[in-house]
Amino acid sequence: MRKWNFNPGPATLPLSVLKKLERNTIELDGLGMSILEISHRSKEFEAILNETKNLYHELLGFSNDYETIFLGGGASLQFAMVPMNFLNGGVADYVITGSWSKKAYKEAKFFGNPNVAATTENENFTRLPKEEEIKYSEKPIYIHFTSNNTIYGTQWHKFPKTPEGVPVFCDMSSDILSRRFDPKMFSLIYAGAQKNLGPAGVTLITLKKSLLSLAKEGLPTMLSYKTHIENNSLYNTPPVYAIYVVKLVLEWAKEIGGLDEIEKRNNKKAELLYGIIDKYPDYYKATVKDKASRSFMNVCFRMPSEELEAKFIKEATSSGFHGLKGHRSVGGIRVSMYNAMEVEGIEKLCQFMEDFKKKN
Ligand code: PMP
Repeated sequence: MRKWNFNPGPATLPLSVLKKLERNTIELDGLGMSILEISHRSKEFEAILNETKNLYHELLGFSNDYETIFLGGGASLQFAMVPMNFLNGGVADYVITGSWSKKAYKEAKFFGNPNVAATTENENFTRLPKEEEIKYSEKPIYIHFTSNNTIYGTQWHKFPKTPEGVPVFCDMSSDILSRRFDPKMFSLIYAGAQKNLGPAGVTLITLKKSLLSLAKEGLPTMLSYKTHIENNSLYNTPPVYAIYVVKLVLEWAKEIGGLDEIEKRNNKKAELLYGIIDKYPDYYKATVKDKASRSFMNVCFRMPSEELEAKFIKEATSSGFHGLKGHRSVGGIRVSMYNAMEVEGIEKLCQFMEDFKKKN
């Protein structure tokens, strides 16, 4: 039986996508070969790559001013590639809202002088900084945000104002494609695929083409955005299979109604789960008390004791709810409910939480 899978990433995928993969992994559309066996330079794969890109742009609303590339190395490689390409010894502002933005900031130090524009680390990242707490530098080359903090369960529902004319970059690994946002606000967005977009192995980087004129020359070929843009992500062998799965996930997203429908479902799931948590605040203790900061993707809570948490996870697991243990650095419970988690899964989990509370 298929479990309700709350893994934080790699994460649950739509069953219809897995079924298509089952067929097409053996033979792709009458080609007599698997998608795993075709050349990345074949016209079939180039068509897959372009369709994936076009669909991604269509769903998220990127204009022709933007280009998307598909790279390996995870979002973690982007922590370094971003400053390597754009910082050039200068200053960039990092808004530090969790472990991932801290890691991005750390990499930037290799290439220039990143500035901590704001951080809520002294409150264990349990809320996002308020707009007035963010102190931008005089003339930063860019500003870097993390839109959803996978480990701490916070998410920007409204991005703070930023100074006119400064490019804004964002790590959207754990909430890309989960809701509408204004793409024009960003000059560069990167997202590892393994939460909302597909499997591990590919990272999507979308950047404004005009940004490339600011990119550093003389970088190692594979680490320069220019290389991959000029070669339509085919400078070397890209993660073919992962890109193909992303295509299927995007097709699924479009079929069910695109971002509007996805956002509606995600809002519903958040309403249900935070509803239970706020109904029993002394039992299911939300770690993010500031409601405006709460993530709709990763919901974190503690319980009255660690013993009870262990019991909760054990009983949930035997009832078919998988992957609820909080990140090893924070403990507690974390419910990751990306796009492919159905509303029904959250309804069932909420019922389990009601029953568990009654019995314990
Ligand atoms: N950024 C965010 C917001 C993440 O959640 C993660 C992974 N969980 C990463 C970056 C790192 O991604 P990767 O493991 O693909 O390098």
